[in-house]
This record gives sequence, structure tokens and C-alpha cells, in this order.
Amino acid sequence: MIIILTSKSIGDSNKGSLVASDTKKRPDGRAFDELRPLKIEAGVLERADGSAYVEIGDNKVLAAVYGPRELHVRRLLKPNMAILRCRYNMAPFSVEDRKRPGPDRRSVEISKITAEALNPAVFLEKFPRSTIDIFIEVLQAEGGTRCAGITAASVALADAGIPMRDMVAACAAGKADGQVVMDLSEWEDKEGEADLPIAMMPRTGDITLLQMDGHLTSDEFEQALDLAIEGCKIISEAQKEAIKNRYGGD
Ligand code: UDP
Repeated sequence: MIIILTSKSIGDSNKGSLVASDTKKRPDGRAFDELRPLKIEAGVLERADGSAYVEIGDNKVLAAVYGPRELHVRRLLKPNMAILRCRYNMAPFSVEDRKRPGPDRRSVEISKITAEALNPAVFLEKFPRSTIDIFIEVLQAEGGTRCAGITAASVALADAGIPMRDMVAACAAGKADGQVVMDLSEWEDKEGEADLPIAMMPRTGDITLLQMDGHLTSDEFEQALDLAIEGCKIISEAQKEAIKNRYGGD
């Protein structure tokens, strides 16, 4: 499991202060425990081995998977297992201020944590000396693209027929306008007090990624974690539905 806590630490100073505001409507009209509208489709690209498209709110994210295939970079090769590589990329037109094309610190970080969040789910030992390559393209961003990318990548891995313990689902929770909320919008992400993206394997309950930015009391942290886990469970059902829609069956 990866745990990255950034900015300020978790304190105890504000215990219980969020309870009264739990029922307040959010700027986009959602309840505190409500996801944005979600759409997941598997197998959207002809030329990739597996692919998926995810919309959550105004986020639009594509994931493509190649592999398992032979790895030619000898220094990366593992004799007893495959490696999983990920490239997360934001299109220049995906954000309000045009994004300069190419990798930057943020995309390198998100690529790394995405691969690490997916790693525990994949039976890598079945494919020695190989690589599985994941490409995530953010076409439109509205807060929460790392979670949307992980969610899409899992479905693309399943679509590629890669054996997995479970499909990893990802969702953030956090605190905005004094309230602990599920699935932060871009405004809540930018203006809010804290952001807690997680990824998990719902079948086992294993959390494969946990990051935090901002400040939460320990009570708020627990509430946010519960909300993020709830969000992952809902997203997980939609992932399974997407695979069923593509391949049929129960
Ligand atoms: N964002 C942006 N320009 C950038 C990077 C991010 O406008 O160069 C916006 C985008 O909507 C993104 C949000 O800021 O979803 C939050 O970014 P963060 O780094 O917290 O990652 P995310 O929430 O997308 O996982």
C-alpha cells in the first residue's frame, strides 16, 4: 500500500465540528455522500489490447493497455514476473488554461502512483520477463483525474484479459466549505481544505493507494476515508457492469 500524506498533518483540534454541516448541499447540488454522474465503457479502442473510457462529472479519461508483451529494456526486466508501467497524460485542451504538452512533475507523480496502486491487483508472476503498459489520457479535467485514471486503467486491464485479484477502483473524499464530502469537484479540490484520494480492491478491502493533501482532524479523516471507500464500492459496481456489457454474462 502507498501512503502519501502531504502538506499539513492530521490534528485533533476540531473534533466533531463537521457533524452539523453534514447535510448542507454542495455548490453543484450534490449531497455530501454523492458521487458525480458516472459512465464507464470497456473496449473503446480497436488497436489496444484493452481499453476503457470513464466519465465522472466533467472528467473524461481514456485508458489503453498493451501487453503482456516482451520487455526489451534489460535493466527493467524481472526474470520471475512482469512489470507494470504507466503514463498519465493531460491533453493541452483538458484544462481551462492550456496545459503545456509533455510530462511535468505532476504527471510523473500520478503515473508512478497509478502503477503502484494497480500493481497489487495484477498477477504479475504469471508473465515473467514481460511488461504491461498502461496509457492514460485525460481529455477533460474537473478534479479527481488520478482516481478516474486508475478506475479506467483497471477496466482496460480487465478488457485486455489480464488476470487480476480484483479491479482496483479509486475515489477521493475530502473537506470543502467545512464539510466532509465524497468525490471532490474541481472547485472543491482547489478551494477546499483537504483532499484524500484512495484506490482499493473492494473484494478484499485492501487499500492500494492513499494520498492526502490539506488538513483534517482524526475524526474528519475517518469520515473522509469511509466516504472514499463507499465511493470506491459504487465505482467498482460500475466497472463490473462495463465489463459485463462488453462481454456479457453475470
Ligand atoms: N488542473 C488544472 N491544470 C493542471 C493540473 C490540474 O486545471 O495543470 C485541475 C484539473 O481539473 C484537476 C484538478 O486541477 O483535475 C486537481 O488536480 P490534482 O493535481 O489535485 O489531481 P486530480 O484531482 O486531478 O487527481
